[in-house]
Amino acid sequence: MEKVKQKSLIENVQDQFNKAADLMKLDIGVRKILASPHNEIVTNFPVMMDDGSIEVFKGYRVQHNNILGPYKGGLRYHQTIDQGAVMGLAALMTWKTALSGLPFGGAKGGIQMDPSKYSNKEIERITRRFTFALGDNIGPDYDIPAPDVNTNSQMMAWIMDTYLSTKSPAERQNNIHIVTGKPVKSGGLEGRDAATGLGVVFTIEEWARDKKMDLKGATYTVQGFGKVGYWAAHFMNKLGAKLVAVQDHTGTIGNANGIDVEDLYKHTKKNNGGVNGYKGASEISSNDFFSTAADIFIPAALSDQVTGETAPMLKVKLIAEGANGPTNTEGEAICIAKGIDIIPDILCNAGGVIASYFEWLQNKRQETWELAEVNDRLKKKVVLAYRNVFNTAAEHKTDTRTAAYIVAISKIESVYKERGIFP
Ligand code: GLU
Repeated sequence: MEKVKQKSLIENVQDQFNKAADLMKLDIGVRKILASPHNEIVTNFPVMMDDGSIEVFKGYRVQHNNILGPYKGGLRYHQTIDQGAVMGLAALMTWKTALSGLPFGGAKGGIQMDPSKYSNKEIERITRRFTFALGDNIGPDYDIPAPDVNTNSQMMAWIMDTYLSTKSPAERQNNIHIVTGKPVKSGGLEGRDAATGLGVVFTIEEWARDKKMDLKGATYTVQGFGKVGYWAAHFMNKLGAKLVAVQDHTGTIGNANGIDVEDLYKHTKKNNGGVNGYKGASEISSNDFFSTAADIFIPAALSDQVTGETAPMLKVKLIAEGANGPTNTEGEAICIAKGIDIIPDILCNAGGVIASYFEWLQNKRQETWELAEVNDRLKKKVVLAYRNVFNTAAEHKTDTRTAAYIVAISKIESVYKERGIFP
């Protein structure tokens, strides 16, 4: 039988938007505005490789909407990056920042590439030249990039340094909020690296509270063991939950007796970032991973993982979406029919951009925030967004993703109505 082609990320995001827009009877004009991004920037830029040859890379920045504040969102270095993917991810950022009550809009960007094929020096030159190519299409009060898949605080430091080098000396020091997710000593925020994973766990705690479930001894699986997956597991571990299976780009492992999160993390650091070959668990198949019986599944890697193919296998009570777009519409319908709860991406992984907002404020005010203050404020924002979403789901008798979209879009709709359309 011929396989039905899976919908792309942008098609899924558009379907989800349309479902919410129908249900909330979104104003037709606002609906038209939100259906497409404001700006789509594509740049082909040259970089010299270590051997002296020249390669041309394709970089993207899509600015979806800025009615609530500057465009905000990460930069991703991955083979799957193309215009459609970035458009979908940029729209998700608009909903995410609105839902979290941040004075930001939404954007996303990246470079279509496999970073593992380049040396560190090449990655530095690629990052700096991409920043230069973007020029004033980004700006500290206009469009503020951040880390995403395969980008980290070191790359943010290079972006900041390059951007500031293009400004006059007097302007440099008050523009360091051009990017968030910087190393702490370079103006970054204490706790920013862990914030997405911590936010994921705050939402799981709220869910467990509603279910009157004790997370001590609860079992969970994680897909992706990078910034989001590792930190989520780290905080789940602190609550006494048991990690029973992990999948990443290098392999899939399982152990019903529990996997030592910190020991696995040490292994990945020695093993090119991958879980493959870890001695404290056995290698399992991808199907075994998706059919592992556990309380919670945390997809924290790429989009389109819970699909028409994998959703029927799932034996979990909750999917907590650490990744952006991990569940497609077909997979979601199956999960809902099976009674699996979903904490949608724009709520579940919003801890990252919330902490980015704190970093941005810290830089603008020339302050240094303490970790306890960061985490305390983060929790308040995440819990408030969680309650808004679950109350809205009950009120509209709809699923949690549609409810999250409704909360976000309603806010944006009100602002369009208040401000009107120029001229
Ligand atoms: N890349 C993260 C996300 O998808 C963080 C974005 C940011 O901090 O601007 O939410």
